[in-house]
Amino acid sequence: MMKCPYCHERLTDKVVKCPHCEQFLLDPILNLDHPSIDKKNCTFCDKKVLKEAKICRYCHRWLDEVDRIARDIDPDDLV
Ligand SMILES: [Zn+2]
Ligand SMILES: [Zn+2]
Repeated sequence: MMKCPYCHERLTDKVVKCPHCEQFLLDPILNLDHPSIDKKNCTFCDKKVLKEAKICRYCHRWLDEVDRIARDIDPDDLV
């Protein structure tokens, strides 16, 4: 029994992709320096995560959270 490093949901067997948060469980490739592996730094803890990751595996925050908040703000309110 293993847990998803992203959302901490239990994974029943060796899945390549977490069915709960839809993150690919390919952490070992994060340690490789290969041009075809796109990485980015987490907005919150600045650790390296996969570019397509939606949840940071270190601090478990949604990486598109900032985008969500930005979408919720009505531009007219800022004026
Ligand atoms: Zn997950
Ligand atoms: Zn993080």
